[in-house]
Amino acid sequence: MKNIMFIAPPAAGKGTQAEMVVMKYEIPHISTGDILREISKEDSELGNYVLETLTSGRLVKDEITYQLIEERLKKEDCKNGFIIDGFPRTLEQAIKYDEILNRLGQNIGCVFLLEIDEKTLEKRITGRRICEDCKSVFNINEEERTPQIESSCDYCGGRLYQRSDDNIEAFQTRYKMYLEKTEPIIKHYENMGVLYRIDGTKPIGRVFHEIDCIIKGSENK
Ligand code: AMP
Repeated sequence: MKNIMFIAPPAAGKGTQAEMVVMKYEIPHISTGDILREISKEDSELGNYVLETLTSGRLVKDEITYQLIEERLKKEDCKNGFIIDGFPRTLEQAIKYDEILNRLGQNIGCVFLLEIDEKTLEKRITGRRICEDCKSVFNINEEERTPQIESSCDYCGGRLYQRSDDNIEAFQTRYKMYLEKTEPIIKHYENMGVLYRIDGTKPIGRVFHEIDCIIKGSENK
C-alpha cells in the first residue's frame, strides 16, 4: 500500500513530485481543492456554499471536507494507495484524518516534508511561468527548467504566464501562513514516526529518487 502525503511551502515542487509519483505508481492524486472546485460548479445548496467559500479564500467547513474525503477514499482505486493533497490543513483535520483512515482500514503511509529555505523559494516564485494551454511549469530562474524561449511553451508553443499570486508580497503572506498552520501538523506526524524530511533544493530527479527509495522501503515493512 502506498499512501502518500506531501507537506511543502508554496513553490517547493510539490506538484511536480506528486505527478512523478502518480506516473510511476499509478495511484490516484486526491486533491481536496480539485474536488471542491468540481462541487462548486453544481447548481445546489452545497455547490453554492462551496463556490462562495472558495471565492472568498476561506476554508470550507470541516464536516463537508471530512465527508468528501471519506467518500473518495472508499473508492476502489484507492485500495492500492493514493496521494492526498490539500488535506489536512490544520491539526484538527490531521487528527480527524487519522480516524477516517482507521475506519477504512487504511494507514497514513509516508508523509514527505519538502524543505527549502525562504530565499530559494522567493527565487522560484518570481521565476515560475505556466503554459496557458498545456499547464506545463517552467522557471526562468532555474537552469533545469528554463524554457527555450522565455514567453512560450517548449512542448506546445502556448503562451507562458505568471500566476497573480507569484510575487514577493503574496509569497511572504502565504509562507508565513504555511509556517503557522503546518508546524503543528509536522510535529503530529513526526511523533507518529511517519514523517520524512526531504531536501527540496536538490534537482528534481534527485528529490524524486529519494522519495521513491523511501516509498519502496516502506512497502517492505
Ligand atoms: P487548493 O487548491 O488546495 O489551494 O484549495 C482551494 C480552496 O479549496 C481553498 O482555498 C479552500 O477554500 C478549499 N479547501 C481545499 N482543501 C481544504 C481543506 N482541507 N479544508 C478546507 N477547505 C479546503
